[in-house]
Amino acid sequence: MSRIARMWQQLLWQLAPEACASCAAWLARDQLLCPDCLSVGTVETLERSIGGIPAWACSPYDGPIAVALRRFKFEDRPELARRLATTLHGHLPWNELDGRVHFVPVPLHPLKLAARGYNQAALLGAYLARHARARCSPTGLRRIVETAQQSSLGRRERRANLVDAFVASPRLRGQHVVLVDDIVTTGTTAIACTRALTAAGAQVMAIVSVAHTGSDEPNTVETGTREETAQQSRSAD
Ligand SMILES: [Zn+2]
Repeated sequence: MSRIARMWQQLLWQLAPEACASCAAWLARDQLLCPDCLSVGTVETLERSIGGIPAWACSPYDGPIAVALRRFKFEDRPELARRLATTLHGHLPWNELDGRVHFVPVPLHPLKLAARGYNQAALLGAYLARHARARCSPTGLRRIVETAQQSSLGRRERRANLVDAFVASPRLRGQHVVLVDDIVTTGTTAIACTRALTAAGAQVMAIVSVAHTGSDEPNTVETGTREETAQQSRSAD
């Protein structure tokens, strides 16, 4: 798609009445999913522990939320970030966090960022920070090596593949950081980011994402087409 066509499409999405992020039914403003999609999906506070750090999400990676995330990430729909972040923010246990936290998104490698045009985690982090009246540091972490396709590797190889893939800004020294991603799968990326943040002197309070997968293999999601799941697998990290 040409740059002008892409900008035109973005403008239309901004002007159009808001549609369900999964099935495209028309919606009242600021809702993410229509009642039908909400009735079949699960939107609730999910918690797990990754490397001893609480990791929160608002849905398992299946059903309508998984469709919405694939549209957000692979169908050039950055405008979905606002409603996804609002839904996530509503399910975060804020009594365990405070407004002084610094949201830091998992970075994309510059080549991938150039190809997609936006970092989905950075957009989510910016909206979460706005909701929480907190700061967001989109450059707090940098990905310094393009990692091989994570989904084709075993757990140990994934971890080895990501070691030293990230570096954190020294500006985060002494800060309370919340790491943001769109989907947390095995937690390998989150652990590598946490290690870089800790090395820079930051304290990682939590890891937040819209969805958690329950398995190592993101390509087992039932709702995606073969092409979508292949895309997801390529970008599982
Ligand atoms: Zn719907």
